[in-house]
Order: sequence, then structure tokens, then C-alpha cells
Amino acid sequence: MERTLAILKPDCTSRKLSGKVIDKIENAGFKIIAMRLVKLTDETAGKFYAVHRERPFYGELVEFMTSANVIPIALEKDNAVADFRKLIGATNPAEAEAGTIRKEFAESIQNNTVHGSDSVENAKIEIGFFFSGRELV
Ligand code: GDP
Repeated sequence: MERTLAILKPDCTSRKLSGKVIDKIENAGFKIIAMRLVKLTDETAGKFYAVHRERPFYGELVEFMTSANVIPIALEKDNAVADFRKLIGATNPAEAEAGTIRKEFAESIQNNTVHGSDSVENAKIEIGFFFSGRELV
């Protein structure tokens, strides 16, 4: 079994779409192994997206991620990382395949509803960012 980290982003929680998105995640065969409701700060959002520090949209991204509550969810499934990236679709919803979460719900390339880890190594780091070992069932 592999693990990945999802985050339901502010555009998802503020539009009250969390239940619908979680339904899609569970229907796709993912098991929720930990979940929290969190309000990120400039510091925690900046740290989470530190790899994007040099990108022109970094400031806007931190502002967006701190604009409402987010819901980090640790997920488990065979091939979880790749399968979850497939389920969420391309970063830009205009390029996301039909049936993906971002195609159905995302508002823009930034307000794209859900985060998914991009590698098994990053999934471990990102799960550790939000959850301690004893919180993972
Ligand atoms: P992801 O792995 O599909 O989430 O995409 P990236 O790692 O490339 O980018 C991280 C997040 O930054 C995305 O999910 C978006 O929320 C945001 N983002 C990516 N590209 C852009 C952009 O060109 N402009 C803005 N404003 N935000 C972006």
C-alpha cells in the first residue's frame, strides 16, 4: 500500500464542496487514514510551498492558501501517488481531462480545489508536515 497527501484548498472549503470532493476520492478507491481542518498561516503555507519560492505566483499562492480553512487528508491505496494525480487532473483545469476533480470543480490554475503529492518521496514529507506518526491509523 502506498500513501499520498491531498489538501482540499480554500476554494473547495469556502464553496462547501468538501463533501463532494471526498466522495469522489473515496469512490476512486482511496482510504482516508488521517484528516484535519487547518487554517494555514503565511509561515506554514510558505513552508509547504517552499519549492515554489522563486516562482512569480508564490506570493499570490500563499495568499490564496491562507484565505480560508484547508483540509489535509492522508490517503492510502495501491499506486496512491500516481492514481491520485490522475484523479485530480492537470494543474490548469482548462487542460484537465473530463471526469477529473479539477475539471469538475476548479475555478482557475491557482484555485484548483485540491493538492496531490507529486512523488512517493514528497508524499512522505507532506504527510509528515500535517500528521504525526500516531495520527496515521
Ligand atoms: P500541482 O502539482 O498540479 O498542484 O501544480 P504545481 O506544483 O506546479 O503548483 C502548485 C500550485 O500552485 C498549483 O496547484 C496552483 O494552486 C498554483 N499554481 C500553479 N501554477 C500557477 C500559476 O501559473 N499561477 C498561479 N497564480 N498559481 C499557480
